[in-house]
Amino acid sequence: MPTPSRYNHFQRWSEDHFLAFNARSGAVALMTNDNYESYLRIVEHLKSADESTLSDDDKQLLMQLNHGKFMHPDDYDELRSMQFQSRLARYDTTDLGLVIAPTLACNMACEYCYEPNKQDRMTAAVVDGIIKFVELRAAQLKSLNVAWYGGEPLLAMDIIEDLSETFLDLSKEYHFKYDASMISNGYLLTKDKVDRLTGLNVRSVQVTLDGPARTHDVKRPLKNGRGSFETILDNLVYASTRMGAGVRVNVDQSYTTALIAELLKELKARDLHRRVGIYFGQLEPSTTVCANIAESCYGAISFAGIETEYYKLLLEGGFRIEKLPAPMAVFCMAQQINGYVVDPKGNLTRCWNHVGDDKRTIGNIADPIDYEHRNFTHLFDVDPYEINECRECSVLPICMGGCPDRRIVQGVKKDELCQSWKFNLEPMLETIATSCMQARQQAATRKEMQS
Ligand code: SF4
Ligand code: SF4
Repeated sequence: MPTPSRYNHFQRWSEDHFLAFNARSGAVALMTNDNYESYLRIVEHLKSADESTLSDDDKQLLMQLNHGKFMHPDDYDELRSMQFQSRLARYDTTDLGLVIAPTLACNMACEYCYEPNKQDRMTAAVVDGIIKFVELRAAQLKSLNVAWYGGEPLLAMDIIEDLSETFLDLSKEYHFKYDASMISNGYLLTKDKVDRLTGLNVRSVQVTLDGPARTHDVKRPLKNGRGSFETILDNLVYASTRMGAGVRVNVDQSYTTALIAELLKELKARDLHRRVGIYFGQLEPSTTVCANIAESCYGAISFAGIETEYYKLLLEGGFRIEKLPAPMAVFCMAQQINGYVVDPKGNLTRCWNHVGDDKRTIGNIADPIDYEHRNFTHLFDVDPYEINECRECSVLPICMGGCPDRRIVQGVKKDELCQSWKFNLEPMLETIATSCMQARQQAATRKEMQS
């Protein structure tokens, strides 16, 4: 007999409605009080009777609940099924993900940067090595995803263009999908570069803003000491018309709600509130350099609280809410055999945080992959299905055990590893659902005005 999913979350939405969320399917639904009561009645009924004995209305509701994975057949092991999907994703070789840092040089001098003063630039031999690496795998690929990274990748635009053109040629020859994204500080993202990048399938860019102009320009100055905020915003205005544009705000305890509100006001003044997605990142003391600012970093629980407040500010300011509780098969590329970070020397690592760190490399792009290398296995082997707290956790599908590097390399403990969903799912769902409804209402109003 059908049983309820262990990943169901119900919360009061209004006097007449409940908000229903299933973390495994990602389904969100508004349920009337009547439907919620029917759901409870169905669950109770099915403990002792067959579903054929349900009323027609309850059978109909059960069908919808099955569809959203709120219910599943009795003989179905939900956890085992997820674990199976996770294993498929781990060993999949039809999708190749490469994070390529064509240079580690940067035009900025951020106070918390973990890649200070690195000047390496990719050589022609490494560029050839990357092409050969992709060619060798091309025949079995369904997709190739590249994230351009650095340093500041736009300081090596020529390398990005050379490699992208080859990837595009290979994708046509071998019939796989090729998409790219970029992490940039945004200062060099001129109109001309945006146009060239979009022609090379770079679909989205993420830049970082550390608060409004007056704090950003102190925390993220250019190497020559000048500010970068105004130029970055100018660049985003055009970039956001041609590609997906996201703004990451690295949050530590020096932030206040007033400071975030000030940043949002500055973005809105340029009409960016409907065109960029804002994402609040938890600044973490992940390296020796970052450890210097450790005392100002939030812990996971306190970050979850402040994050909720900041997303409410986005909602009030008419910004898009882009953070969604989406189910995933694995947490990150370090848990997939076909994901690599390539540094300018051609050294491969398994984690974005390890780029350019010779001690963390698993080998070089020119050599066969050593799947037994300790730097490969120690992150790959992190499996939330083997961790008791995660197996029992009601947000496992949208967390997947969190960052393996933090768990294994940094030795972060227990709750600090949990994604903020564990602590703020209810208020975040409320904000997300309100934002969806507002967007729907606005679309309906626009349609009405046009007709
Ligand atoms: S291990 Fe952690 S830091 Fe490294 S890529 Fe994965 S999520 Fe990112
Ligand atoms: S890390 Fe925490 S939130 Fe994530 S699945 Fe494990 S117990 Fe749940």
